[in-house]
Amino acid sequence: MRLIRGRLRSAGLRDVRVQRPYRNVVARIPGAESGTVVVGAHYDTKDIPRFVGANDGASGVAVLLELARTLPARLDGPSIDLAFFDAEESPRGESFDSGGDRGSGQFVRYARGGGRQGSPPLLQIRAMVLFDMVGDCDLHIPLEANSDAGLYSKFSAAAQDESGSDAPFGGEAAGVLDDHTPFLQAGVPAVDLIDFDYGPGPSPGGWWHTRQDDLRHVCARSLGEVGAPALAALPAIR
Ligand SMILES: [Zn+2]
Repeated sequence: MRLIRGRLRSAGLRDVRVQRPYRNVVARIPGAESGTVVVGAHYDTKDIPRFVGANDGASGVAVLLELARTLPARLDGPSIDLAFFDAEESPRGESFDSGGDRGSGQFVRYARGGGRQGSPPLLQIRAMVLFDMVGDCDLHIPLEANSDAGLYSKFSAAAQDESGSDAPFGGEAAGVLDDHTPFLQAGVPAVDLIDFDYGPGPSPGGWWHTRQDDLRHVCARSLGEVGAPALAALPAIR
């Protein structure tokens, strides 16, 4: 949490806030238009002994920190609210259904409450974009079934513009519960940019929620593959 706050401040973002009780770290890149796009990742990790979570969820955090450093200090369109969520993972022994998404749920609750503790008012949120498990060296980010297809296509189109191929985007995947879920439930269009196929075997893959999720099994190149198109796509969301 301190590292995130420090990096955001050195990226020039003023007014970095830490919500309570779940310690979501939130910061705004102001825009000339009204409204905002929430861009999220989770920084908590599964409470497994000696678990690192290089992919789940440090990869998303890395993308957001680089976006904070690289996006213009003031946007022409809507603002961007960066949200580093706490408590995405459910406590051990509890299902994701009942124990997951506590940080993002709190963020949306404060938004519904008119905008408290750094959450924007719900009616100002035009869209939500989530980065989760984007560090896999063999990165594929299909359209997750609960996600907004129009939002997703902005990212695949940006990748196409940049490199002549929509990779790592393309294909479709089953829906998952993740930090975009509370936003969807609140009626906000949202997209989960997630590669839920990590390591050998069928989704979610043999490295997910194991000690194999460490620096050996993530690639900086993958962060760029998703981050560079995001740099073009995010300011174009209206
Ligand atoms: Zn996880």
